[in-house]
Amino acid sequence: MDKEKKLKIGFYEFSGCAGDLLTIIHNEDYLLKVWNSAEIISFRLATSKRDEKANLDIAFVEGSITAEEQIEELRKIREKSRILIALGTCASFGGLQSMYSHLGDFSSRFNSIYPHKFTILKPIESKPLESYVKVDYFIPGCPIDFKLFLFNFTRLLRNLPVELPSYPVCIECKWQENNCLLLKKIPCLGPLTRAGCQARCPTHNLPCVGCFGPYEDLNLPSWLKTLQENNIPFKELEKKIRMFFGVKVKEILSKLKNKK
Ligand code: SF4
Ligand code: SF4
Repeated sequence: MDKEKKLKIGFYEFSGCAGDLLTIIHNEDYLLKVWNSAEIISFRLATSKRDEKANLDIAFVEGSITAEEQIEELRKIREKSRILIALGTCASFGGLQSMYSHLGDFSSRFNSIYPHKFTILKPIESKPLESYVKVDYFIPGCPIDFKLFLFNFTRLLRNLPVELPSYPVCIECKWQENNCLLLKKIPCLGPLTRAGCQARCPTHNLPCVGCFGPYEDLNLPSWLKTLQENNIPFKELEKKIRMFFGVKVKEILSKLKNKK
């Protein structure tokens, strides 16, 4: 592709483990193709050559917002980007760092752990990007699945929208011909979680803990019936839902409780 015609792309990170951007960097077989198919304007983890003044066609942003100073930084990225994509579960839903947000009063929780005043940043409750700016697309995962990223990266280069699997992890689990863990009385969040990871955990006999975030179109009555029939206490699932569903937890739990 002609250099002039290449899309200008930036990769940015806020609070998280940087696992999504590292997932891209660690796929060496494809990294050069990604790199050469666009004009990479900013990618702090990969290069010190950056231009923070340039306008962008696409900004990929990972991590949640956990400090006041980050809000302004995120707004600046939004202002200069035609398309902004939340990359990973922290950016999309708030991440593990928001798992206690349902307990309210961030300051007292924070001060009980860190009694000394922070002088570098002003910490706030962890929230997803969408709480502060318009997000055009989400590519969840903790970390993201590289194939799903590459598929969507290629679509975006052709001006096509991001497309995510419109079904839960259970569908991918069935494609792998796994025996269902729920039937072995193991609490698995597959039915509640958006697919995209090829059912990585159940394929290794481990229950899904929902790291790709919620799948909204769940058949709740049928799922709750399966839990009851297999003597899986709802409390077990509740704890797991809190891990990765971030700001969506309240909504999901209230839906679940209403149906119980
Ligand atoms: S093991 Fe988990 S992901 Fe697989 S079918 Fe059962 S509930 Fe769904
Ligand atoms: S099976 Fe569930 S917890 Fe495991 S990678 Fe997939 S979405 Fe994440």
